[in-house]
Amino acid sequence: MQFETISSISTPVGEGAIAIVRLSGEDAIEIADRLYKGAKKLTDTKSHTINYGHIVDPKTGETVEEVMVALMRAPKTYTREDIVEINCHGGIHTVNRVLQLTLNHGARMAEPGEFTKRAFLNGRVDLSQAEAVMDFIRAKTNEASKVANQQVQGRLKTYIEELRQSILNILAQVEVNIDYPEYDDVEEATTSFLLEEAEKVSVNIDKLLKSSSEGRILREGLSTVIVGKPNVGKSSLLNYLIQDNKAIVTDVAGTTRDILEEYVNVNGIPLKLVDTAGIRETDDIVEKIGVERSREALKGAELILYVMNNNDELTPEDLELLKSVDDKKVIGIVNKLDLENNLDLNYLEEHFKIPLIKTSIIKGEGVDDLENEIQKMFFDGSLSSTDSTYVSNNRHINLLEQAKVSIEDAIASAEIDVPVDIIQIDLIKTWELLGEVIGEDVSEQLIDKLFSQFCLGK
Ligand code: GDP
Ligand code: ZN
Repeated sequence: MQFETISSISTPVGEGAIAIVRLSGEDAIEIADRLYKGAKKLTDTKSHTINYGHIVDPKTGETVEEVMVALMRAPKTYTREDIVEINCHGGIHTVNRVLQLTLNHGARMAEPGEFTKRAFLNGRVDLSQAEAVMDFIRAKTNEASKVANQQVQGRLKTYIEELRQSILNILAQVEVNIDYPEYDDVEEATTSFLLEEAEKVSVNIDKLLKSSSEGRILREGLSTVIVGKPNVGKSSLLNYLIQDNKAIVTDVAGTTRDILEEYVNVNGIPLKLVDTAGIRETDDIVEKIGVERSREALKGAELILYVMNNNDELTPEDLELLKSVDDKKVIGIVNKLDLENNLDLNYLEEHFKIPLIKTSIIKGEGVDDLENEIQKMFFDGSLSSTDSTYVSNNRHINLLEQAKVSIEDAIASAEIDVPVDIIQIDLIKTWELLGEVIGEDVSEQLIDKLFSQFCLGK
């Protein structure tokens, strides 16, 4: 495909010493040559080379910047088009000037995600890979980038393609049946083959969906609620976690006015510290909104940090709250260890199966034990194992859920001997839905929507 040449700054603005202006398209090299002065013209330079030179404003003859220019000719490039990357080391001002010069001399400003969109449209990556790139750009932690990376490698694609192949096998068998309707044994064989294979497909879709919750955690943060009676040290813990860990800046949708979410990265796990009415003012959930309401807040929590005061005795209220969260992932925090012990630790250990961490937040002690415990709970084997396929994208999850419904419909029909040509419809639908996950049969509109979410310059 042929597209206009696009240009943009492809490094995070304001960060790092080097900024790259990236051009992609048929005229990329020619446009760069209008601005670049080096030992040789870029048009006469070999592909996949890095070239030293200067960017000179053709109008004024002024040298704008000393640069290294990477030259990559199609098709062995990210977009499968000619790509020129101008590495500038000056500040944001010079980088902007270089970008402006490329725009004045034939390039068009790239839309967000347009480089990756071209990679997709030129057949370089499939849609699930392109989306993984988008997740990758957004990934704020190492673990999250690992998941995104695996997806870039096409792992999900392979998995989905295998499922689609199984469905094609069933459909082939169904065709045989339709072609020879007069043979009863063909019909029987078809039904049993269909049931067996469709069951396998269904189980495998389930597996994918199961892996999605972990993927989602990595993308959106593990929703974590800090609870406990007033004055036990909840605010102190929250503030400590925020200060001790780089707060994650996020633009995840759904942050409403009433719900404040703080994102922190604890040992590679993004925690979304959630509170229902402004976390700083009303983190004393029990105190301010009562036990009932705090139970509501706890319902949606994936991790509960239950804080207690080492200096206080356990109350029936403590026990009731602890009981109500027994089926969740809870970490008990016995705080104020620097004060006299009045809390019955033995009782807690005997009656609740939750891990107990002892802290003195005021002294900064024990919080790293807590952080390690959080890491242990969520990365115990499962997440760091390299052979799992993660679905970390809401669109994928949605499509997989639909695919699951239609394959189950097919199974249910086969079980009550519905004619195979009717079951065929559900099978084709499953096949199509799975195809959509990897970008086959997707409408133009969907593609545009997806790519406009990309960061500029990718
Ligand atoms: P919250 O009501 O549960 O949010 O508790 P705060 O975080 O507001 O803390 C209540 C009081 O306990 C404050 O005066 C804190 O400084 C103090 N505090 C917090 N952690 C500790 C600790 O580990 N040891 C001691 N001695 N005091 C603490
Ligand atoms: Zn507080």
